[in-house]
Amino acid sequence: MSPTIISRAGWDARPPKRRFTPLKKWRVQGIVLHHSGVKNAPKGVTAVKAYERFHMDSRGWNAIAYNWLVDEEGVIYAGRGPSVVSGATKGWNSRTESICFTGWGDVKVPEAALKSIKWLIADIQHRYDNKLWVKGHRDVGNSTCPGNWLYDWLKSGMPERVEDPVNVDWDGVSAHLEGLKNIVLASPLSKRKRSRGEAVRAVQQRLKDLGFEPGGIDGIYGYNTKRAVKMFQVRYASFLKVDGVVGGNTWDVLFS
Ligand SMILES: [Zn+2]
Repeated sequence: MSPTIISRAGWDARPPKRRFTPLKKWRVQGIVLHHSGVKNAPKGVTAVKAYERFHMDSRGWNAIAYNWLVDEEGVIYAGRGPSVVSGATKGWNSRTESICFTGWGDVKVPEAALKSIKWLIADIQHRYDNKLWVKGHRDVGNSTCPGNWLYDWLKSGMPERVEDPVNVDWDGVSAHLEGLKNIVLASPLSKRKRSRGEAVRAVQQRLKDLGFEPGGIDGIYGYNTKRAVKMFQVRYASFLKVDGVVGGNTWDVLFS
């Protein structure tokens, strides 16, 4: 389901001091995620209006800095809106679109906000033929933005389910894993085959959770993933062949 999107007119944005500068599509390389950096930030449209005032009146900027904002309930606001130069990411404003979570990204961000951020990133990607990188502000600037929790979520591939354990849909999770296991049984995952996809991503995440560093959680079975799988297999060498390949046995021990 699409989230609610509020246009600039919808949240009564002030006119920019100067006309917005269009982004040159061919120059745009990425999407940058921010948070407000404000603990106990105001909520909803009140936050958006507050950041606009701060950016325009205190900082003297042209308009609210971000292309997009997402509040704690997952409502999306057009800040400057699509395809215009923002003022959010020093050095990158003419090469990125920016998204700001209006709350505090150092602690767990509400599920509704995560869903909308993910939806928005996909929507922006769609406008740029899915060729953009997605980074946290700290990756491209001297900043702790977008906060540790939100940054980790972004870097772990924007997982759908991060509820508290008591709310996890275990039937759904095990059905999902069963589906992935069938993929693995049909064709074991390996570096040699350059395996890719959701099953590889699940293995990487699991290895990471268990303390075997697979490198990035990127769904690509590369050198670091193979090495982590081998280290895992060495640990369970009485059950598993140490070959760096994930077949049914290694999968079962990983997810048992
Ligand atoms: Zn930032």
